[in-house]
Amino acid sequence: MLQEYDGLPEGLLETNSRHLADRLGAPSLIHLAGAREPALFVSVLMHGNETVGWDAIRGLLLERRARFGDLRLPRALSLFIGNVTAAASGVRRLPGQPDYNRVWPGSQLAPTIEHRLMRRVVEILSERRVFASLDLHNNTGLNPHYACVNRLDNRFLHLATLFSRTVVYFIRPAGVQSMAMAELCPSVTVECGKVGEQQGIEHAWRLIDAALHLTDIPEHPLPARDIDLFHTVAQVKIPEDVSFAFAPADGDLVLDPELERMNFRELARGTAFARVRTGSGAVLAVIDELGLDVGSRYFGLEGGELRLRQRVMPSMLTRDETVIRQDCLGYLMERYGEHLPGSA
Ligand SMILES: [Zn+2]
Repeated sequence: MLQEYDGLPEGLLETNSRHLADRLGAPSLIHLAGAREPALFVSVLMHGNETVGWDAIRGLLLERRARFGDLRLPRALSLFIGNVTAAASGVRRLPGQPDYNRVWPGSQLAPTIEHRLMRRVVEILSERRVFASLDLHNNTGLNPHYACVNRLDNRFLHLATLFSRTVVYFIRPAGVQSMAMAELCPSVTVECGKVGEQQGIEHAWRLIDAALHLTDIPEHPLPARDIDLFHTVAQVKIPEDVSFAFAPADGDLVLDPELERMNFRELARGTAFARVRTGSGAVLAVIDELGLDVGSRYFGLEGGELRLRQRVMPSMLTRDETVIRQDCLGYLMERYGEHLPGSA
């Protein structure tokens, strides 16, 4: 169950993500005092192998302690360290665990003890009040660093563009941290590139530092030239009963090994996604924001290949077969600039 601390457990900042479970034993919410209230909320390790958030926050806190002798935070900080047991094994989640970023209030999955735990975190933060929320992730595909929001609200977009001019708006999948926290404060999820990349850690560190130093979050519109806003319209999955492989290996669906290069590129109608084994009838499942499979709207079979039937821009397309099976192949997006609130 959830553990709560006022102050840092001894030696925690010196502990890498693989050893947090030995030190903490369970998901932990840690409150640290600062010059301003209410606290900035930062969550890390929703996915156990995505170490960027923990490495960024402990780097920042260690650096402040070395510089000032204590943390001397410009704003209070509430830090949630999520799936420590999966982190011990270096995996997204352990067998039998739900995805920790699908079980926050608003989740559509069958209730688990993890749902109760996340609900408790939100209740505690609601009582204490919270300034803004950052949820820090790595991803597996070849993607730019970008921020995600679940509301088209200027304060959310300002927070997002502290990290990147590339911003993705989505409302599915449900049960993610940033959507639950959006009920309480401006809230973003940030995707900091692949695991272990130093520039991702430094980028996340700079975001946390900038957010800790904000006195308020502006409500005025962003100039359209300062933001590239995209809308995730669907999630692409490979149905469980369909086998897949990357060429030259064989399966019902044979995917292009260069698939990740399509991320954040506007693709023309007719672009091939996969070769289909003759007679297999294999398709890609494309789940829209209402949870409906709209595969035939996006992909058609032409010359033995699944090809795009309309222009889209993919994100998070990955070659990681575990992620493809546990989560999805990737997402489809559309440009959304004309939906910027209050812009001329
Ligand atoms: Zn993640």
